[in-house]
Amino acid sequence: MTMTIESSTTDSSLQSSNYDVSIFIPVYNEEENIKLLDDQIKAALDGQSINYEVIYVDDGSSDKSFEVLKSVAQGNSHIKVLKFRRNFGQTAAMSAGIDAASGKVLIPMDSDLQNDPSDIPNLLAKINEGYDVVSGWRKNRKDTFINRTLPSMMANKLISWLSGVNLHDYGCTLKAYRSEVLKDIRLYGELHRFIPICASWVGAKVTEIPVKHHERQFGESKYGINRTFKVVLDLMLMKFLTDYITKPIYVFGGIAFISILLSFASFVGAIALKFTNHIQLDGTPLPLLGAMFFTVGVQIFMMGILADLVMRTYYESQNKRTYSLEEALNLHD
Ligand code: UDP
Ligand code: MG
Repeated sequence: MTMTIESSTTDSSLQSSNYDVSIFIPVYNEEENIKLLDDQIKAALDGQSINYEVIYVDDGSSDKSFEVLKSVAQGNSHIKVLKFRRNFGQTAAMSAGIDAASGKVLIPMDSDLQNDPSDIPNLLAKINEGYDVVSGWRKNRKDTFINRTLPSMMANKLISWLSGVNLHDYGCTLKAYRSEVLKDIRLYGELHRFIPICASWVGAKVTEIPVKHHERQFGESKYGINRTFKVVLDLMLMKFLTDYITKPIYVFGGIAFISILLSFASFVGAIALKFTNHIQLDGTPLPLLGAMFFTVGVQIFMMGILADLVMRTYYESQNKRTYSLEEALNLHD
């Protein structure tokens, strides 16, 4: 294995010297798994002439995980450890891993031995074929069917359908990304599983390969069924953010328009009833309905204007671009 000596960190970032591959691994109460995982990674990658670093992010573990990580990192400068002050969640831990990674290819992985490091060379081979994102597909998933695998299958179908990106398994942590793809993405909620979608939406080439999956031997899963709902909500939010963030008035304006149309229809209906069936205006709920639709419509329209103002502040305060460049020729910087 080739190893690069760690250089001093730059002032504002945690990044260390350059590696080809950065593996980053969130750890939350996985004391029995870490040493075995470290062995598996070594077995899979040492001797492959891959210049890699491993970044463990201890997400506020309350067991001995950090002590084990310390001993694993001892004397191995390519193994880095970050420790959170408290439990911030897997997505935050992955963000920290991405921030600290210096590799050209970034590979997230679980620390519970359910993913198998021996798949990493296959992921890298796909990246070398020219893909920007290679997603792992736990084709033979070893989790309980009724509360894990089945809801996840349904969520995956829904996500594929809504996003237009066809992957079988968004939830598999083991994936490989070209680092440019991850650099600008900010992760919130459970959004880490949607990175391939964000990437594909800005034009990245995305593919998937089957990867191994093992039953959890030690420790316990940190999630229950409610994760599926969170994931679906996250997706809807993200769909909105990507499609309409630069033009929120289209969404709000559209709903406002429908509401105001309904209000006019109600008024017209009420008047029609008066002249055809001789039902007085106070003999039908239609005028009230009309007034309600009208108020709601105006309010939603105003909300759209507010959303538009917020969006402008969001982009202009951070100098964010509303597009994503692949290349720029003959331009400075
Ligand atoms: N994890 C974490 N913070 C959390 C929850 C989980 O860092 O708050 C890590 C955990 O240690 C594991 C990975 O995220 O490495 C996946 O968690 P888990 O195995 O519980 O999920 P499952 O495989 O059951 O979906
Ligand atoms: Mg697991």
